[in-house]
Amino acid sequence: MNELVAAYRYTTNNWAQIGASRMCGCCSCVQIFPAEEVVAWTGLDMHNMNDPKAVDNQTALCPRCGTEAVIGDKSGFPIHASFLVRMNEAWYQRTIIRPPPAKK
Ligand SMILES: [Zn+2]
Repeated sequence: MNELVAAYRYTTNNWAQIGASRMCGCCSCVQIFPAEEVVAWTGLDMHNMNDPKAVDNQTALCPRCGTEAVIGDKSGFPIHASFLVRMNEAWYQRTIIRPPPAKK
């Protein structure tokens, strides 16, 4: 679980990390795509767009689903489907479906 907590931090304020990565994955839609596909970012507005610190703190939006859930290989975490599914289950499942308790 600690690994998933650590990886979650890389899904925000990740401008530099995504920029240095080759492949990225989305923990929300569980797709994998080249870093160049990430073109949408949040965090900048009219007031801070020239502030280098604010630029570094931008958060990538997934090019496939628009969620702030992108992690790049530069984070050191494995960008493959099974890891993204684990991240998805840990952080992006808003509904947890539990089977009803077995009747005795
Ligand atoms: Zn996505």
